[in-house]
Amino acid sequence: MKFILFLLLLAGGYYYYTTQMNPGASKKINSANLPTSVKALKERIDTRKITKDDVRKLGDAFYKAKNNEARQDTIKLLTYALLATNPGAFSKFKQKINNDYPEQGYLDFVSSEFPDTCNSCAGEGSGKCTKCKGTAKCMNQKCTEGRIIYKGFNDQTVNNQCPVCRGKDECSTCIGSGLSALPCKSCKGSGFKNTQATAIAKYKEAIKSL
Ligand SMILES: [Zn+2]
Ligand SMILES: [Zn+2]
Ligand SMILES: [Zn+2]
Repeated sequence: MKFILFLLLLAGGYYYYTTQMNPGASKKINSANLPTSVKALKERIDTRKITKDDVRKLGDAFYKAKNNEARQDTIKLLTYALLATNPGAFSKFKQKINNDYPEQGYLDFVSSEFPDTCNSCAGEGSGKCTKCKGTAKCMNQKCTEGRIIYKGFNDQTVNNQCPVCRGKDECSTCIGSGLSALPCKSCKGSGFKNTQATAIAKYKEAIKSL
């Protein structure tokens, strides 16, 4: 009897671990958790393109999801749809999700499903800032680490804050990121190689399996 109890506890613990602790582990999407607006995307999947409205529906479903599992499933579909239609929007979306849900790891699956980082932008999704050429430093030539230093009257050293960067020694165009506001030309901003075709295939496969 004790042994059976032990087995039950073990099974229960494993179930808890796989469902709660590791939401990205299960590959199959559980359509029972999804709202009808998302399930309806299955209809006509072969005959039409992924639209902005589809992306919006998936976004709604993600934020309104009742539980962690549903959120994990909808974010998967949403990620595929975004990478398929607007790769540049994905890096912004990723930042937002990592800010809003820092502990959940909702996007952990992305690196295993899209393992090839774009060489041109090193996975950043943007090219280099054209103003500072990626150095991220202040572009005032007289500025040294945020200070303007020169010899004044009577050989006195004058040491003033740089008026361009206000002492921060940051490029004002990219606010010290070194990155362009425009998406990387090579990956269209996704940060991965060959993303769109893969994302479309993954999206269709996932939607069909609902
Ligand atoms: Zn790139
Ligand atoms: Zn810059
Ligand atoms: Zn400066």
